Amino acid sequence: MGYKKASFIENLAEKIGLIPDLHKEGYQEFDQDMRQFTDEQVAEMYENFPPPEKWDNWVEYDSKSWPRKKKTEYQIVPTTCFNCESACGLTAFIDKETNQIKKLEGNPHHPGSRGRNCAKGPATINQVTDPDRILFPLKRKGQRGSGEWERISWDEALDTIADRIRKALKEDRHNEIAYHVGRPGHEMFMNWVLPSWGIDGHNSHTNICSSGARFGYNLWYGYDRPSPDHTNAKFILLISAHLESGHYFNPHAQRIIEGKMKGAKLATMDPRLSNTASMSDYWLPSYPGTEAAVLLAMALIILQEGLYNRDYLENWTNWEEYLKACHPKMEVTFENYIKAMIEEYKEFTPEFAEKESGVKAEMIREIAVKIGEAGERFASHNWRSAGASNLGGWAVARSLHFLTVLTGAVGAKGGTSPNSWNKFKPEIPNPPKPQKKWNELHFPKEYPLAFFELSQLLPHFLKEGRGKMDVYFSRVFNPVWTYPDGFTWMEMFMDETKFGLHTALTPTWNETAFFADLVLPMGLAPERHDINSYATHGGTWVAFRQPVLREAARRNGKPVTFTYEANPGEVWEEDEFWIELSWRIDPDGSMGIRKHFESPYRPGEKITIEEYYQYVFERVKGLPEAAKKEGLTEFQYMAKYGAFEIEKGESYKKNETLLSEEQLKGSEVDKETGVIRKNGKDIGVMIKGKAMVGFPTPSRKNEFYSQTMVDWNWPEYAIPKYIKSHVHNDVLDKSKGEYVLVPTFRLPTLIHSRSGNAKWLVEISNRNPIWMHPEDAAKWGFKTGDLVKMNTDIGYFVDKVWVTQSMKPGVVACSHHIGRWRREQDKIGNRWATNTVDISNPGKGKWKMSTKRGIKPFDSEDKDSKRIFWKDGGVHQNITHAVHPDPISGMHTWHQRVRIEKPGPEDKYGDIFVDTDKSHEVYKEWLAMTRPAPGPGGLRRPLWFKRAFRPDDSTFYIKDEK
Ligand code: SF4
Repeated sequence: MGYKKASFIENLAEKIGLIPDLHKEGYQEFDQDMRQFTDEQVAEMYENFPPPEKWDNWVEYDSKSWPRKKKTEYQIVPTTCFNCESACGLTAFIDKETNQIKKLEGNPHHPGSRGRNCAKGPATINQVTDPDRILFPLKRKGQRGSGEWERISWDEALDTIADRIRKALKEDRHNEIAYHVGRPGHEMFMNWVLPSWGIDGHNSHTNICSSGARFGYNLWYGYDRPSPDHTNAKFILLISAHLESGHYFNPHAQRIIEGKMKGAKLATMDPRLSNTASMSDYWLPSYPGTEAAVLLAMALIILQEGLYNRDYLENWTNWEEYLKACHPKMEVTFENYIKAMIEEYKEFTPEFAEKESGVKAEMIREIAVKIGEAGERFASHNWRSAGASNLGGWAVARSLHFLTVLTGAVGAKGGTSPNSWNKFKPEIPNPPKPQKKWNELHFPKEYPLAFFELSQLLPHFLKEGRGKMDVYFSRVFNPVWTYPDGFTWMEMFMDETKFGLHTALTPTWNETAFFADLVLPMGLAPERHDINSYATHGGTWVAFRQPVLREAARRNGKPVTFTYEANPGEVWEEDEFWIELSWRIDPDGSMGIRKHFESPYRPGEKITIEEYYQYVFERVKGLPEAAKKEGLTEFQYMAKYGAFEIEKGESYKKNETLLSEEQLKGSEVDKETGVIRKNGKDIGVMIKGKAMVGFPTPSRKNEFYSQTMVDWNWPEYAIPKYIKSHVHNDVLDKSKGEYVLVPTFRLPTLIHSRSGNAKWLVEISNRNPIWMHPEDAAKWGFKTGDLVKMNTDIGYFVDKVWVTQSMKPGVVACSHHIGRWRREQDKIGNRWATNTVDISNPGKGKWKMSTKRGIKPFDSEDKDSKRIFWKDGGVHQNITHAVHPDPISGMHTWHQRVRIEKPGPEDKYGDIFVDTDKSHEVYKEWLAMTRPAPGPGGLRRPLWFKRAFRPDDSTFYIKDEK
């Protein structure tokens, strides 16, 4: 594109700074080929991002007032987005006149997002100004769930909870206290709080999210998540639509595009033609649950064609152990290893994979060769998707990593590293020792290998009397709506003998908060403190989410003591809440809790939030030096820029890190395996005569063969295998109209529960029809907009059909982020997004929900609320799903076997029916598939496996507990 000579007016406007100088050196080249510039140069040239030195005094002119010149003076304060896990950088523009946030834009100084955001970042402003948001602490009036609330003070809320926790702790009822997190975000903070109380009280949403894939990765190399280096890759393979709807959405998306601009090829395996699939070079519309068959077929081709990385396989996989265990008669040579693997996978021909998956054999072959040719520059990702959808979904991630191992791309530039290599872990003040409790309501004996808490089974455990929750926190967590089997959650929440005191810590009203005793308003992205660090690329960064009005007040010489003094209403944040609560549980220090919350700088006194973060930031590699250069403290530096780059994208091959002489002093090398041990702990492995740190597995290598699976009663999965899923074609009765329903995708503008109060997002996406291929629609006689009845194992929901070629024939799909509701008694709450429903319980275990009203315009301070034009709020599908925990990983397997039916005259759009007695039966059926602990030595879990909020090792032994 050529640049016209600047006109006189343009020249003048540029000179006096009215518009950016588009004609200065650099701009034209930038437009012609931005790739020649570094990120820093691009950020510098892009003057729409005000430079940090102007952040305290930034002036913009209001475009709507043109030709009148109306200026607004802003103070700009950085924070991070809270609308998905990526934690992209945001900058809040605070109007100096009103002291309110006017808008949020990207933060170019954030190394993960580099100034860019998805739609959900800037839409944070909608959440802040939502007329339905909760502004003050509330206590229920009347019966639980009655919808009546009264305002209370933070003091009353804190004292009520602290008294109850103190009593439970003093009566040794530690396992009756639990904190259940939905959207996490504050690195290590709860690892400080909960073990300080001595409880094994952490519960998370991970088993309905990503634990399946994590398990598959962990078996290989002791790390549970991948960190693909998309920018430098030659070939990228995504299991599902990460680019636009999965985790690390925006940071990954921009790097995938960069990789593509440099020539990388992109392949996406997804039965749905997602936006990502449509941008890919290859779309592999695999039948759900057959992904591992395709991946193993690719592995076989790489092996047969000799495209594998011999050096990597020989040095960094435990092949000798495999041959000795599985082929004792074979000589232990590398050639026999290759031979044996080809033999193991010989049935996985591309033709077999095509028969299973529907993906053309030719395409499988072509991609396999391309992956082999990419070698170390093969990047891949599997987050939820197939890993979170199928019985044996974890085997998909295991098979995917197999390709990474075969190509030697593990930890390589342009390859796929372990997540932990690109993630900062804070050091916390006065750290507590691991708790000496094991809570079987979270980690039951039936699931000894489960990576995270069996949170989806909690209501069933309570129902069958395994325990109770005396003090229960739901934190930005909405299981009634996001989890499968929400009516069972509702039943348990309504029963005060099961849930004693339920406190909902939430920024928005949600279906779970309706059944709480206390609803405590927690801050959104610009209203809270958190530390974030995520594996977005081959580098490491730390970012600071901060309450921007509080930070502005500090800079302006009007500091506040607590964040709720600066936020709208009395909206607080968890960090200060937990410090205050912990102090009140143990006011005199006699319980040993208080000491953990004392200031590291002022002995005996309560820590302040600034002190906490100063302590953490002082210990970030390189940050003290960077702060000193600017004459700032570490806290002030992070408050100013919002992020810091710790390592700049060269963190590759860390397994090859050499052990120092000091580390090796007093160590021993196992003659057979080369594993280096010191003080009873494995610290490294000998590779080509050098002592290297390796991977945190028993062999310190990638484990093609897993002795752990053998020891824990799953010998059939000693090596990567394809597991036929619970929705495999063999188990569906097509003559009865049975299909597989894919409920795991979301529209890219939505967040789980929290897009409900973002008007821009709801305006874009507000219903969730059933995606159906024209061939299937013709078979049923459906056209777009027709009603369809979707029968699940435990009930049904009535939705509308959307006929689209974007769906694989024989498979249907429904987005899981829509179908929000409130009842008549819940007078306000996300009115942009919620249907008003009627819920009835006509007989034991039978629950019905029907839509009384769709979405309507409403009166509020926001004029847009009168302009709502959409009426349809979609249908809540998850509540009709039974729990299906994978017996090994514990991951809820989301795909549903559904029976499609034409609705009868009595069936209305949005109707839902569920039988919770039936759902309890399904829970028992899946429980019966497990192979419970103890494992070797009376263990309840392998010691080398990580565990969220890992307790003291002594608790790992079942016999010790007695
Ligand atoms: S990807 Fe979007 S929602 Fe997620 S943190 Fe970034 S801007 Fe926010």
